[in-house]
Amino acid sequence: MSRIAFVGLGNMGLPMANNLVKAGFDVVGFDVMPTGFTPAAASVAGAVTGADIVVTMLPAGKHVSEVYLGTEGVLAHAKPGALLIDCSTIDVETARHVGGEAAGRGFAMLDAPVSGGVGGAAAGTLTFMVGGPDDAFARAQPALQAMGKTIVHTGAAGAGQAAKICNNMILGISMIGVSEAFALADKLGLDHQKLFDVSSKSSGQCWSMTAYCPVPGPVPTSPANRDWQPGFASALMLKDLTLAQQAASAVGAATPLGSAAAAVYGEMVEDGDGGRDFSYAYRWLQTQEREG
Ligand code: NAD
Repeated sequence: MSRIAFVGLGNMGLPMANNLVKAGFDVVGFDVMPTGFTPAAASVAGAVTGADIVVTMLPAGKHVSEVYLGTEGVLAHAKPGALLIDCSTIDVETARHVGGEAAGRGFAMLDAPVSGGVGGAAAGTLTFMVGGPDDAFARAQPALQAMGKTIVHTGAAGAGQAAKICNNMILGISMIGVSEAFALADKLGLDHQKLFDVSSKSSGQCWSMTAYCPVPGPVPTSPANRDWQPGFASALMLKDLTLAQQAASAVGAATPLGSAAAAVYGEMVEDGDGGRDFSYAYRWLQTQEREG
């Protein structure tokens, strides 16, 4: 079975690495913090030396650049022909740059960000959005299937990150839309369950309404029923909406609602609600005064 180096064993990376071990891969981990994962290498260089596949799950683009391009990094120490898979959510520009540098040194690289959160990482049911060459995508299948359920090849380098931020821009906007509707319903004296019964079956239907309803009651599994504990934290939604805004500005795409959604999550984070689930937008809106 292939040897895999797994770099970045945080909330997502640790359960993903554990699923690779369960699937029979020989996994060596590395993180700058102690994680309890064994075997653990002492450095990125130590982890990737001799690995057939390198998987990274890091906070942001600057960490990905450092881990891949640094003198003690992946490109300097991975064995020729190793397959490189970055699962972090990062900006499209860095994903393309690092992918280009990897290709220039003869490595096949994929950007493969995920959706499904910590629960999906633990259950091995993540969705992977994968950018990069066809042959690398084919080679990555056994490893990706050990960590996820839905694996979509979205295009060339950077297309995985593009799909991730476009999807999460829809999610951020739709969650605020559903939250605004419930906050308005409250003021109009309309019962939550009644709005749900109508909207979940009519044209207001969307994932934020039917699978992840931001008010307690209608969808028992949604974070609203456990005091909006994440789930998917508002700070992470702000990160993704900010990446979407950076990308939109780089290519000149008009995203007025994406911009407004980023501003709402920015205010929630400033108000100290960054650690709450992103569906807390409903409660946050209830505390806001109408302008004008
Ligand atoms: P995390 O902060 O829990 O984990 C990141 C890990 O990377 C940490 O353990 C950190 O110590 C390590 N790290 C940082 N710099 C390093 C370096 N130079 N070398 C080795 N390790 C290093 O974050 P997370 O929640 O696991 O998220 C990871 C990525 O997945 C992020 O890009 C995030 O946006 C994305 N993501 C997270 C979720 C979620 O629900 N948590 C969902 C989808 C996508």
